[in-house]
Amino acid sequence: MHKSDSEGIALREGIFQYARTRLEYEPAPLDSPQSFEYLAEHAGPTITEAGIGGEEALRVFEHVLAPATISTDHPGYLSFIPCAPTAASKLFDLVVSASAIYGGSWMEGAGAVYAENEVLAWLAREANLPASAGGVFVQGGTLGNLSALVAARHTAKAKRVANGLSMPAQWKAICSAEAHSSLKAAAAVMDIELIKVDVDARGKLTGAAVEAALKHSSDDVFAIVATAGTTNFGIVDELESIGAVANERGIWFHVDGAYGLAGMLADATRPLFAGVERADSFIVDPHKWLFAPFDACALIYRNPELGRAAHTQHGEYLETLTESGDFNPSDYAYNLTRRPRGLPLWFSLATHGISAYREAVESNIKLAAKIADEIRRRPDLLLVREPELSVVVFEKAGWVLADYDAWSARLLAEGTAFVVPSSHKGRPNARFAIVNPETSYELLLEILESMTN
Ligand SMILES: *Cc1c(COP(=O)(O)O)cnc(C)c1O
Repeated sequence: MHKSDSEGIALREGIFQYARTRLEYEPAPLDSPQSFEYLAEHAGPTITEAGIGGEEALRVFEHVLAPATISTDHPGYLSFIPCAPTAASKLFDLVVSASAIYGGSWMEGAGAVYAENEVLAWLAREANLPASAGGVFVQGGTLGNLSALVAARHTAKAKRVANGLSMPAQWKAICSAEAHSSLKAAAAVMDIELIKVDVDARGKLTGAAVEAALKHSSDDVFAIVATAGTTNFGIVDELESIGAVANERGIWFHVDGAYGLAGMLADATRPLFAGVERADSFIVDPHKWLFAPFDACALIYRNPELGRAAHTQHGEYLETLTESGDFNPSDYAYNLTRRPRGLPLWFSLATHGISAYREAVESNIKLAAKIADEIRRRPDLLLVREPELSVVVFEKAGWVLADYDAWSARLLAEGTAFVVPSSHKGRPNARFAIVNPETSYELLLEILESMTN
């Protein structure tokens, strides 16, 4: 299997050629999913005793599997949260793959860990956290939120033990009714109660609402979670007032900024994030709005020691790492073996500089505002909410879900755009999530026009 003969060289060149072609597309075809039956017929069984050979496997991938896989970096991909990695970050992802780096410990991955930590330190600086803040890149926001909440509860438990207090019958965490589904998932894993507090008319969770909720649940609450950019609308909760309540009561304050916290890089939207500096932990996903490839979530603790105390795994074969006193990224989240998934972002940031990132985020926000203006001007379209960041949600007068579905399917079949219907309060709508600097005003206009045909 480890051949460097001509066959191996041919395979390597074939792969490089494929990757080169993929990277040179502007843009890559959008593509679309196929049925299982179609794929079974055209790709066939590929896992055999003898192997089908690299050349054939690559052919199947290039001609059958890849075209059945949507390009999330296509400028017309506007559903969910797209992924728009810079060329530099994609290229460096190849280097990471070629390098077999273990990113879990300083002993094995010092150079890589140093570089990842530079990026985490920068994010902590942007959020005005102290220089001692730090953490780890995990797979995604779901794991980041879980890891932060586990650290929060561990800290609350330790406090109770230190003060000679008993444990509550049920640990509780507070978040908004608009918070991401991953918090509910984390609550289920942790067997805690999640108290969902209503948002105000602007869609925001406020300190006053949290304060009111605390009156009912008293001191069983170990964490308060604010969302810095809801996934549906891009709305930022009132971090300042929520953080003040949490800080005053000594309750862990976590900011879920998986999608939206990148908005703190733009001058125009920075004020929305006032109060993030009160956080005990926060997350932001580079694969969402920091122009990095899947999959990466930056998880940062104000006091990393609290993360380490909660997450360090102990085992005979690991003690040499644990006892070294080194900074081992594995100790700061629910993970052990890890790819140094922060490196593609590190390379791209080092290449382009922070200013380029500020400008890219700002350009997405401006485009969202511009297309919102256009939607407001059109009598047949209704803006569901004013965009705060780069998500634009609107309805088409008279349309029911079937109309949105048919329109969405047509756009995908044409290879123009991927805009799946969303909904709010039971009403279907269309939603643009704009995080790709290649997404143009002209393309968005074309998509709006396609609703009238
Ligand atoms: C996307 C998202 C998550 C989950 O992140 P994954 O990387 O998909 O696991 C959590 N919170 C918010 C606000 C999100 O937008």
